[in-house]
Amino acid sequence: MGHGRFVTVINCIDGRVQFPVLKWMKDSLQADYVDSVTEPGADKVLSEGTLAEIERIKSKVLISTSGHHSKTVALVGHYDCAANPGPQEMHTRQINKGIDVIKNWGLGVRVLGLWVGENWDVECIYDSEEEKS
Ligand SMILES: [Zn+2]
Repeated sequence: MGHGRFVTVINCIDGRVQFPVLKWMKDSLQADYVDSVTEPGADKVLSEGTLAEIERIKSKVLISTSGHHSKTVALVGHYDCAANPGPQEMHTRQINKGIDVIKNWGLGVRVLGLWVGENWDVECIYDSEEEKS
């Protein structure tokens, strides 16, 4: 199942960030398809959510990494989030904490942190592959 190169994104439900994030993932990672796990304020949920909430997201990500052999998982935070309002610094903290949670899942994947700012431009603020060098 799943021909082509899949990558995975954990994104907010917000309609304004879907296309920018999908385009960035496809262009930057040479991906054919982007599997999307959406949750209102995903960065907050992964960093401050209950164990049950985090496990629910993890189970969805696992379908992408095992079923579609995705080797990259990105966590997204964005400007003007209705589910998780706050300054960029707060989102950055949550994204970094959420990335630690994803890494602890032990999937052996590349982990990215993405920030979508007020012009809906996507900025990569963390890349596990850059950490190694
Ligand atoms: Zn949002």
